[in-house]
Amino acid sequence: MSSILIIYTGGTIGMVKDEKTGALKSFDFDSLLKEIPEIKKFAHHINIESFDTPIDSSNMQPEKWLQIAQTIYNNYDQHDGFVILHGSDTMAYTASALSFMLENLSKPVILTGSQLPIGELRTDAKENLLTAIEIATTEINGTAAVPEVAIYFEYDLYRGNRATKSNAEDFEAFTSPNYPVLAQAGVSLRFNHNDIYKPNNKDLQLNQFLDRNIATIKLYPGITEQFIFSVINTPGLRAIIIETFGSGNASTEIWFINLLLEAIKKDIIILNISQCEGGTVNQGKYETSSALNSIGVVSGKDMTFEAAITKLMYLLGTGLSSEEIKQWLQKPLRGEMTLD
Ligand code: ASP
Repeated sequence: MSSILIIYTGGTIGMVKDEKTGALKSFDFDSLLKEIPEIKKFAHHINIESFDTPIDSSNMQPEKWLQIAQTIYNNYDQHDGFVILHGSDTMAYTASALSFMLENLSKPVILTGSQLPIGELRTDAKENLLTAIEIATTEINGTAAVPEVAIYFEYDLYRGNRATKSNAEDFEAFTSPNYPVLAQAGVSLRFNHNDIYKPNNKDLQLNQFLDRNIATIKLYPGITEQFIFSVINTPGLRAIIIETFGSGNASTEIWFINLLLEAIKKDIIILNISQCEGGTVNQGKYETSSALNSIGVVSGKDMTFEAAITKLMYLLGTGLSSEEIKQWLQKPLRGEMTLD
């Protein structure tokens, strides 16, 4: 009998309305389980670990990613797969972070949640949870069908570090603009085997150190010199993500390029991520990105913002030199970026 571990962190899936304020707040896992008796029908051994205090995922922190990653690491050999119940707001950040923290993963880690609490009549929680369990336990020829960190939401399975929350209203809350879905749930589960990660035979390694000395600058016409100056002079800062226009373009104004150059000279890594969800950064395609290329801004290619920031946190935590980190930033480590 296969065995899975459900890790309950919180999120709308387990929330109830506060009688006084009407706002949704997190509830304990036992109450959630009562709403879903179907779970007993699985022919799998299901174990549960819950955060002591379940959270709205807007309160997610790197320390809590470590708690989740450690729970998976400590329970790895005894389980065939893992399902993480998580709020959808920061689910793509957690999925991306876990993909970098759990190196050499060869078992499914499936995150899911819902847009409506499990106790509501029209809830999407039941289908999401039951199918996530099904996916986490599916094996093909004795090996896990999805040996990677993935997000299951509303009939689609996405690579975790390729997904982004793009809708706060629809049940279909996630998209994966630059990578195909890994599986679709219809009458049967249809896995897109060619797009699913192929594990290596190495032992699982837990990368626990994340460095959060990163800033992000979303560019807009009219951004001020004072603002960028103050960001690059943040004490302890090691990296900046600049969210650029289109295929990685930015202003060619001399003060702007000079400030970026000043940061690079201070050994601050600058990573270029596009504000567009789909497509890729292509530094040098336009004159407005040629200067970024020549001063040493690193292209984040087609990474999501969530993947970029967690990859930076992970790489900065490895102790590698800035030059080495810049090299690794441009290579896919867990399928988070498309090779040229
Ligand atoms: N605010 C909730 C959360 O992210 C939204 C959700 O669960 O979908 O925890």
